Amino acid sequence: MIDKITNLEQEARKLEPSKEDRQNYLQLIAQYAEDLLQNLPEAPANIPPIDEGKGLHNSPISDSPITPAQAIELIRDNIDQQALNPASGRYLAYVPGGGVYPAALGDYLAAVANRYSGVYYASPGAVRLENILIRWMCDMVGFPAEISGGNLTSGGSIANLIGIIAARDSTKLKSREYEQAVFYVTTQTHHCVRKAIRVAGMADSIIREVDMDERFRMNTQALETQIKTDMMAGLRPLMVIGSAGTTDVGAVDPLEAIAQVAKKYDLWFHVDAAYGGFFLLTELGKSIIKGIHKADSIVIDPHKGLFLPYGSGVILVKHLKKLYESQHTTANYMQDTYDVDEYSPADLSPELSRHFRGLRMWLPLKLLGVAPFKAALDEKIYLCRYFYQAMKKLEGFELGPQPDLSITFFRYTATNENLNQFNEKLAKAIQQDGRIFLSTTLINNQYYLRMAILNFRTHKADIDLALQIIQEKVAALQ
Ligand SMILES: *Cc1c(COP(=O)(O)O)cnc(C)c1O
Repeated sequence: MIDKITNLEQEARKLEPSKEDRQNYLQLIAQYAEDLLQNLPEAPANIPPIDEGKGLHNSPISDSPITPAQAIELIRDNIDQQALNPASGRYLAYVPGGGVYPAALGDYLAAVANRYSGVYYASPGAVRLENILIRWMCDMVGFPAEISGGNLTSGGSIANLIGIIAARDSTKLKSREYEQAVFYVTTQTHHCVRKAIRVAGMADSIIREVDMDERFRMNTQALETQIKTDMMAGLRPLMVIGSAGTTDVGAVDPLEAIAQVAKKYDLWFHVDAAYGGFFLLTELGKSIIKGIHKADSIVIDPHKGLFLPYGSGVILVKHLKKLYESQHTTANYMQDTYDVDEYSPADLSPELSRHFRGLRMWLPLKLLGVAPFKAALDEKIYLCRYFYQAMKKLEGFELGPQPDLSITFFRYTATNENLNQFNEKLAKAIQQDGRIFLSTTLINNQYYLRMAILNFRTHKADIDLALQIIQEKVAALQ
């Protein structure tokens, strides 16, 4: 047996590369990352996929290793050289963010040190760092210091799920009563909310789509009328979900007025601010998103408005105790971890072992300071207004309402062709060209192109290029 152990050890020790190997890996990967960043200003925002990364199958997972150079080649050819490029400042689709560089270094350090951030006992510093970030965001939304808190999640969908489950559990509804529970949303509410309601075991509950005004914001009169009707019918109004920046058109619901209705009828008020939340860092943003502090829970996505790489969402809850009661559990083998001062992430989310995701947010904020983030956010709002005004001056375009934040939509109407068909062709032509990338949506069954500005690398020259390309493509299609 000793021989066997010795032999196994020899092979197993390869899992710890030598100092020379580590330096070699790091140097090659850093050089590759540097090339990506250097080329970014000229790189397309979309490269229509050549083979959709099928080359990866030529190098199956096996016992034999490949060199770092071969690995980088596979990544470059199959992943980084095909399809959408959300790191580009000319990626103006869905909800961009970009990925600030120091966040990648935070991830690197978190992975190398591999501190356990799930429970306070294992790494008080890691948990404290995350709680400091959560406190900072609670202050930003105006939640009271002593009672509020939250959890850093992998994204907005999971954060919404955690919020919906906290609301469900706080009402003490029995599962047999879920059929009577009512959620209030609008047609603009992000689709992950419906999914979360289903995943929360409430597929049989009722979801009311409340009417909106002409700017796609929830009509609170209609909300109140619907709640009253539902109560008279013996239903159990549970939760109203407002949006601070809808994904589709960037609309901000009247949060103050919704909060009043929610309070009057004792509903949990949840605000999905995954897209818009970080605009609250600036005076301009605060003047647009008013009353969010009256919510019971709020979702924000640092991988959108704080420009972090994908994998960062947040749920904030005004009464943190309610989130703790919803998520906390115990186990015999965890007994060493209980007697501590700070809440642990594991008590506030379904996760136990988890990525120390706080470091990727803390490091950029510390190395760069908050000021450039604020400037970039205001810049995005003004760039959207600039684009909107420039489009208004062009012949033949129909625009959505004045944008609340940094998303707007438009279509071309000066054609005899079917408008949906023409605008689909227009979008495809822009996407194939690839210098900029725009996504599309359907509003009242009409096909529109969206302009979504939230990448920290997007500046005026990129918007000017977008304006030029849109006109070029319309002319070519005419
Ligand atoms: C992006 C977004 C979501 C979903 O968040 P993910 O981070 O993609 O999971 C939810 N709501 C809104 C308003 C969003 O913009």
